[in-house]
Amino acid sequence: AKRMRLDKLLSNMGFGTRSEIRRAVKQGRVTVDGAVVKDFGLQLDPEAEQVRFDEEAVIYKDTIYVMLNKPQGVVSATEDTRDRTVVDLLEPEDRVLQPFPVGRLDKDTEGLLLLTNDGKLSHDLLSPKKHVPKTYEALVHGDVDARDQEAFAAGVTLDDGYETQPAKLVIGEKETREDGIYSRISLTIHEGKFHQVKRMFEAVGKKVVFLKRVSMGPLVLDETLGLGEYRPLTEEELEALL
Ligand code: URA
Repeated sequence: AKRMRLDKLLSNMGFGTRSEIRRAVKQGRVTVDGAVVKDFGLQLDPEAEQVRFDEEAVIYKDTIYVMLNKPQGVVSATEDTRDRTVVDLLEPEDRVLQPFPVGRLDKDTEGLLLLTNDGKLSHDLLSPKKHVPKTYEALVHGDVDARDQEAFAAGVTLDDGYETQPAKLVIGEKETREDGIYSRISLTIHEGKFHQVKRMFEAVGKKVVFLKRVSMGPLVLDETLGLGEYRPLTEEELEALL
């Protein structure tokens, strides 16, 4: 059984700072298996003992799975000396569980990013052997056409000589601006090389000017999330992933 201090449990589960919690415990607002406990340093097994804070049951969890709608301007890392990170967008009570992003989106890419502290899931989703599909929507400077679809279906050669796996390109609306034609597209790839989508378009002489990820394996971006917002995965989403 897992044992931990009462004050640590309560702060990890988001009931306040350590000092707020210690005060609340001393005030008698916390019970363990129905009995008021005033010792905030009490060691207990959070899975076997029922803790309540102001009557509210404290549900212990040590894993976290959230989907974030990543905005531009933040980096997919847990720490960075210059830029804000995706982890900085989480509430303190979620950060204590030490989630990290599963894979990376570029600083200027938006959309679906999974954050978790489940190393095995992360490893499985990123494993090149699993070919987990990822779908992106993009605005591309250039007239994306059937030849690009064929090229991406066959595989293109990136600037470093890498041959991409077959990818599915869907062409959407086009618009003409002063500096030429722009195409809305969606692209599904089954691998994740550095800047892959941008480099695939470079390989056909076109430039991605906006990029957003909309799905990753069974996970689909929840469009009710504003940029920078996140929510826990639902039971169904988690089941589909694990
Ligand atoms: N491909 C890119 O070029 N950038 C991303 O952020 C993701 C995929």
